[in-house]
Amino acid sequence: MSFDLATVIRPEVVTLRAYRVELPPGGPWVKLDANESPFALGDGMREELAAEMAKALADVELHRYPDPEARELRRLLARDFGVAPEQVMASNGSDEAIQLVSLAVGAPGAVIAAPVPTFVMYELTARALGLRFVGIPLSDQFDLDVRQFCEVMRAERPCLVFLAWPNNPTGRLYEPAGIEEIVRVCCGDDVNAMVVVDEAYFHYAGRTFLPTLGEYPNLVILRTLSKIGLAGIRLGILVASTAVVEQINKVRPPYNVNALTQAAARVVLRHPDVVSRQAAAIVPERDRVLAELRSLPEVTTFPSQANFFLMRTAQPGDEVYRGLVKRGVLVRNFSHAPYLANCLRVTVGTPKDNDAFLAALSDVLGCGS
Ligand code: PMP
Repeated sequence: MSFDLATVIRPEVVTLRAYRVELPPGGPWVKLDANESPFALGDGMREELAAEMAKALADVELHRYPDPEARELRRLLARDFGVAPEQVMASNGSDEAIQLVSLAVGAPGAVIAAPVPTFVMYELTARALGLRFVGIPLSDQFDLDVRQFCEVMRAERPCLVFLAWPNNPTGRLYEPAGIEEIVRVCCGDDVNAMVVVDEAYFHYAGRTFLPTLGEYPNLVILRTLSKIGLAGIRLGILVASTAVVEQINKVRPPYNVNALTQAAARVVLRHPDVVSRQAAAIVPERDRVLAELRSLPEVTTFPSQANFFLMRTAQPGDEVYRGLVKRGVLVRNFSHAPYLANCLRVTVGTPKDNDAFLAALSDVLGCGS
């Protein structure tokens, strides 16, 4: 048999590197590597919520396809967002929403742009679709130079721009006026691009562009339940004008959000207080850990409005990463990524997790007691 896989697979796929989640052998871990919430859903009101969830899941008719339009779920989301249900699309994680927008707008040879470093799925998706990805470097402090960014937009004329707000992995929340300027410039006919403001970390930053949706026909907002205690169910949310959602829906696979996810999300959306209480507990912890790290001369931290932060170590990042792993603490190692030499991204956990991280780090850096 002479089947030649390499000529069947598209060349842009052959050269791609898959998104890898590193999980060293061993554990249990103080798991601060994936920007998840450290709280199991319903911590604090476990029994009441668990009973409601168990009933909702038990009532799901698993022999039937899910509602292909996720109507009840979208109705609840739309009510929370203050938009019409036709403006909301549900997806299998916001990763899928990123794919679907890219698929809908990216004609062969088109450009997708984003400030870099940023969430890698924007580039990976663009390249998998045979599109060109243009990354515009952020400043040394990972801030966005809006004027320069807009100049590149006018020169490159992308069809789609991704702005993670706050950005991952840097944690920075760019000035809203700058984001709005980019949306406005991209709306002009010298650029004519859709702009996705990815608000995956909205619950920690507390800022949103949702109220401006009516002003900008090219604006798309992404949300996810992954960062607020529901990473396991995979629910992403896209909000835009009815006209934009109608187009993106054409490339959405039917039944993309399964019935268990729809049912679980409906329960949680009826308890917004649980989600906001858990998110609110993370913010002071983030600021406490950052304040402690600022006293370590071997570490540079960057300001964050998310449930994680980025730090750069004077020692080789790989060594620090391995030292933390040895002490049972798992963070995300970006040491070898472009622009992120010796950088580690640390998710904020429970106070106990964070203390374990601080102790392990002091130990690794040789300044422990
Ligand atoms: N956008 C950003 C900015 C993210 O950081 C992430 C998760 N790392 C995602 C989207 C994807 O989230 P989801 O779990 O909803 O696919």
